[in-house]
Amino acid sequence: PQVPALLARHNGDSLERLLPRPVDSYKNQFGHVLVVGGDHGFGGAALMAAEATARAGAGLISLASRPEHVAAVLTRCPEVMAHPVVSGQELEPLLEAPDVIAVGPGLGKSPWSEQLLARAGRARAKLVLDADALNILAGGRVLAGVQRDDWVLTPHVGEAARLLGVSTTEVSADRVAAAKAIQQKFSGVVILKGSGTLIAHSEGVELINSGNPGMASGGMGDLLTGVIAALLGQGMAPPAAARLAVWLHGEAGNRAAQDGQRGLLATDLLPHIRALVD
Ligand code: AMP
Ligand code: MG
Repeated sequence: PQVPALLARHNGDSLERLLPRPVDSYKNQFGHVLVVGGDHGFGGAALMAAEATARAGAGLISLASRPEHVAAVLTRCPEVMAHPVVSGQELEPLLEAPDVIAVGPGLGKSPWSEQLLARAGRARAKLVLDADALNILAGGRVLAGVQRDDWVLTPHVGEAARLLGVSTTEVSADRVAAAKAIQQKFSGVVILKGSGTLIAHSEGVELINSGNPGMASGGMGDLLTGVIAALLGQGMAPPAAARLAVWLHGEAGNRAAQDGQRGLLATDLLPHIRALVD
């Protein structure tokens, strides 16, 4: 089979960055991001995505989750507007205001999860789809046949395999081909995560090597989702937002891992995300 070549390998220096904030800035200029997720038992993932969004500079952050998570979210991060949502119908009015909607962290695969993805996936806002949003998408019943140029999909190898209907061994055998195949199937920007993250868009596939094995732990991907959403909200185009988010998420992981890779927690990255995004 033909092996597609990589367009570029980035190391951070060559990346488009955010501009400094003008003195007369106001919050509406930096994007309103809505995070949709947090089914029963998975509130932390949605919270971490929302907090990463805040630390990556979004102007306003909302979260729609199962009601039992709202108090914990407000305690940990009162900057987040946390909305309890028990059905897709209740999500509907929350979909109007945001510039970016990140669906998937802790979303689960219940009928509730499917309803939320079905509604959010057709919203006017730019989208980031991660985690169970990708697993539901792979099932083919929700958002069937939908392709969007303004969405960013962030599969790890398992989610990539499900999106393509192949085994993880097949994805790992040719990650470039897998990233490209997912991009062709769904359009937009596809971030195939892992050691050596690939970014596929309409022009080709790029590689960003950053991060470390300490980041192989729960919650890390939720932070990346939040960072991408924040950068989209601050006006970056999807491919540029994907590149910068992947690099700075990995670099934040490297800085946080100076105290050790084992036992590194996703939330340890948050102060470094803040320092790197400026
Ligand atoms: P998830 O599997 O969704 O939690 O995402 C994990 C995040 O951590 C992704 O951004 C991965 O690229 C990153 N990550 C996990 N393991 C490694 C590794 N061995 N080297 C570099 N980055 C990693
Ligand atoms: Mg994940």
